[in-house]
Amino acid sequence: MFGLIGHSTSFQDAKRKALGLGYDHIAEGDLDVWCSAPPQLVEHVKVVSAIGKTIEGAYIDSCFVPEMLSRFKTARRKVLNAMELAQKKGINITALGGFTSIIFENFNLLQNKQVRNTTLDWKKFTTGNTHTAWVICRQLEQNAPLVGLNLEKAKVAVVGATGDIGSAVCRWLSNRTRVAELILVARQQQPLKDLQSELGGGEILSLGDALPKSDAVIWVASMPKTLDIDISLLKNPCLMIDGGYPKNLGEKFSGSGVHVLKGGIVEFFKDIGWNMMELAEMENPKREMFACFAEAMLLEFEDCHTNFSWGRNNISLEKMDFIGESSIRHGFSAVGLKSNLQTVAV
Ligand code: NDP
Repeated sequence: MFGLIGHSTSFQDAKRKALGLGYDHIAEGDLDVWCSAPPQLVEHVKVVSAIGKTIEGAYIDSCFVPEMLSRFKTARRKVLNAMELAQKKGINITALGGFTSIIFENFNLLQNKQVRNTTLDWKKFTTGNTHTAWVICRQLEQNAPLVGLNLEKAKVAVVGATGDIGSAVCRWLSNRTRVAELILVARQQQPLKDLQSELGGGEILSLGDALPKSDAVIWVASMPKTLDIDISLLKNPCLMIDGGYPKNLGEKFSGSGVHVLKGGIVEFFKDIGWNMMELAEMENPKREMFACFAEAMLLEFEDCHTNFSWGRNNISLEKMDFIGESSIRHGFSAVGLKSNLQTVAV
C-alpha cells in the first residue's frame, strides 16, 4: 500500500473539509483546537496503472495548516504524528507532501525517530523529490518549443539551484537536455560554487541579474510573497516553471506576457476515484496531483519499497531515469501548456 501525507492549503479550507467529512467538533474549533487535533486517515483508494498493475493507497491529512508554520513544536508534532499513523497502518511507502517535507527537512526531524512507542522506519517514507525534479525537466523540454524556444540556444536559470530539487534539475540540464547556458541562482555563495564545480559549468548570478537574461526560469525555491520583480525587464517569450510550494508565481506575472506553468504536477491517464486532490487546487483533481505524491504510487507499482528520495543532494541521473521511465509506463504525464499555461501577448 502507498500513502500520501498532505494538508489543507489554509485554515479555512481545512475547516470546510472537516465539515464535509463529518468532523464537526474539530471544524468548529479555533486554531488552538486544530493544533492539538491528531492526523486522520481520510481516504482509501485503488489505482490501476496503464499496464494493468493494481495498487491500494491511503491519504492521511496531517491536520497541519500553513497558519501553523510559525509554531515550531506544533508543526514538528503534526508531521511526526502523521508519519507514525502511516507506519502503524502498515503502509509500505508514504510521500510527504506540501509543507510536510519542508518541515521534515528544515526542522531536521531525522533526529526524532521515536514517536511515543513507534520507532519510525525512514525506509517507508520518501520526499518524492526525484520524480518532481524529473517532471520539471520534462515540462521544460515539452513546453519550451510551444512558446517558440529552442533549448539548445536558450539561457535557463534555476532559482533554488543548490536545493535538493534544484541541483537535480541542474544535473539533468547539464547532462541530458543540454541547454545553451545554465544560470545558477540561490542566496548562499559557497554551495553555488560547489555546485558549479560539480557540474563543470553554469553561471552564478543574483536573481536580479539572472531574470533579464533568461529565456526560461525554473523556480524551485519557496519565494517570499513580498518578492518584487520588474516584469518589464523579462524576455519575451519567457517560460517560467513554478516548481515551488505554494505556487504563487502566476499572480506575480499575471498580464505580463510571460508564460507561467505550474511545475511538478502530473496527470494520470484516467480518473482516480479519490477526493483528496479537491483541496490541493488541482485543475482536474481526479487526475492531477503533485509529482511527489505520484512518486509513492510509482514506488508501489514497482514494488520498490525504499526511501527513494531522502536527504539532500542525493538525486542521481540514474534515479531520475528510473522514476521517469516508470512514470511514463504507468500512465502519468507532466502537466503542460493546455491546462496550466497562462499566455498573455504584450
Ligand atoms: P531545498 O530547501 O533543498 O532548496 C531550496 C533552494 O532554494 C536552495 O537552493 C536555497 O538556497 C534556495 N532559496 C531559498 N530561498 C531563496 C531566495 N529567496 N532566493 C533565491 N534562492 C532561494 O528545497 P527543495 O529542493 O526540497 O524544494 C524546493 C521547492 O520545491 C520548495 O518550495 C518545495 O516546497 C517545492 N516542492 C514542490 C513539489 C511539487 O510541486 N510537486 C514537490 C516537492 C517540493 P539558499 O538558501 O542559498 O538561497
